[in-house]
Amino acid sequence: MLFSLHDLELRKIEFAETYAPGKIDLGEEAVQKAPLTAEGRAELLEEHHGGKQVVKDIRVVGKFATQVELRCARCVEPVVQELSGDFDLLYRPLSTMQREDDVSINEAESEIGYYKGEGVELEEVLKEQIFLALPMQILCTEECKGLCAQCGQNKNMGECSCAKPSDPRWAALAGLKDKLKQ
Ligand SMILES: [Zn+2]
Ligand SMILES: [Zn+2]
Repeated sequence: MLFSLHDLELRKIEFAETYAPGKIDLGEEAVQKAPLTAEGRAELLEEHHGGKQVVKDIRVVGKFATQVELRCARCVEPVVQELSGDFDLLYRPLSTMQREDDVSINEAESEIGYYKGEGVELEEVLKEQIFLALPMQILCTEECKGLCAQCGQNKNMGECSCAKPSDPRWAALAGLKDKLKQ
């Protein structure tokens, strides 16, 4: 869904969209597993600068919710994570970026991005918000035992044979222990 300058000059746009699982491409990091719902509004804000100069900003305010599949940081098994968030974003025309000094607006109010061409694409806004909401790393369970460094077996599924002491020196020690017990 495109919020075009052309439409926004006429009226603000309310949106309530649902994207089927997989519709939003999150690259290799994550997979969209549940419908993504997003609702809010987009509106045009005009910044007036000395003389006739007017900068047309697009403000997008809303919230989203979905579920994504990530990989456990220890055992790399898939983990499904609920994600949701609110946003209040301001997009300026890319052409104003070069003369940033001229532009004064209350920056604390909104996060600032830039748009080029006709307007702002809702999918791009949502994709960015999902990336921002992703946890740095995730574990399938707090107790995840991870993979064996030697054979790569997922140790949550059971111990591999490398886990047992195979070094002959350990065997010798075990033998000594038996002798001491006698
Ligand atoms: Zn794990
Ligand atoms: Zn192993």
